[in-house]
Amino acid sequence: MKSKLHLTGICKTFGTLTALDDVSLELSTGQIMALLGPSGCGKTTLLRCIAGFEVPDNGVIKIEGNNVYDAHRNIPPEKRSIGYVPQEGALFPHLNVAKNVAFGLSRTERQTNRVEEMLEMVGMEGLQKRMPHELSGGQQQRVALARALAPSPSIVLLDEPFSALDAGLRASLREDVRRTLKQAGATAIIVTHDQEEAMSMADVVSVIRSGKIIQTADPETIYHYPEDEEVASFVGEAVFLPAIVRDNEAQSIFGPLPVNQRCRIVDGEATLMIRPEQFTVGEPGEGTPARVVSNVYFGHDSLVRLHVSHSSSEMEISARILGMKRFGEGEVVGLSVKGSVMAYKA
Ligand code: ATP
Repeated sequence: MKSKLHLTGICKTFGTLTALDDVSLELSTGQIMALLGPSGCGKTTLLRCIAGFEVPDNGVIKIEGNNVYDAHRNIPPEKRSIGYVPQEGALFPHLNVAKNVAFGLSRTERQTNRVEEMLEMVGMEGLQKRMPHELSGGQQQRVALARALAPSPSIVLLDEPFSALDAGLRASLREDVRRTLKQAGATAIIVTHDQEEAMSMADVVSVIRSGKIIQTADPETIYHYPEDEEVASFVGEAVFLPAIVRDNEAQSIFGPLPVNQRCRIVDGEATLMIRPEQFTVGEPGEGTPARVVSNVYFGHDSLVRLHVSHSSSEMEISARILGMKRFGEGEVVGLSVKGSVMAYKA
């Protein structure tokens, strides 16, 4: 697929602080990327560099094959064909909904039904005359998205677009926004520090830490085959265990476990990463003995906390299990692991 956005070797410092350290990434047409990382890791700075609000120290930024930033060129933001949706406060308070959406359109485009079309796409038809202060937070963000998409920009950048909203609204807006972006055929980057948001909205997730891209892959790969322990715990719950690896097999308190082929581990001491849903809780004797510490039932699944004591090691493990079977506190069970495990050098 054609590359819409291509960054190579982007660096940005603020005095002695390195905000972006040799960032390279590529986005193809119609792809949605989540830029996922903890607070202060450089996500906003990267978006601002792409949009042209911030000037990198070096590197190259290409949009649709054209350099918009390099050692000799710095195309201003308004000529980069970018739609930007900030965290909040994106709308002009003195303009009504329709005028906000029409803002970036040419005179000819304003005479078409583009504004209505966009408002319908974000589920805000009929609210053209409302002023921003008469809208809920979620509605304001929908209008901001409609405004960003209206001029059909090459790329849409969303900087934590739901962070000011409550959890329930955030979850439902995620789905709507993903659907809208896909319907518009938009190529987009969504900045977030919320792993669920990244996983559920994006085609590809880029994990960023201290200004460096650590891993870029589809959500399944990031979740099941994280690059290191930090990425593993950042994108979900993970159990870490000491083990010895030899010939792609890990010896741990769960006996021999196959090491996933994607691991670059060499033989020797290792740390295994196991997701809670990889555990099977069975009868005593059907695995490593463990004692149930607590069992939280969620309906579709349960989260069982278990205490495992095996030779000299003692540890608490979380297992997520589907189905009806409930285990009582204090019950002794047999714990085993399904599938292969990720192993990292200890
Ligand atoms: P958050 O999730 O909290 O918004 P972020 O990942 O978006 O964080 P950035 O806002 O990109 O992080 O900031 C990266 C680093 O650069 C931070 O340490 C920040 O303090 C610093 N920084 C950002 N902008 C400036 C600036 N204009 N001057 C000085 N330092 C800055």
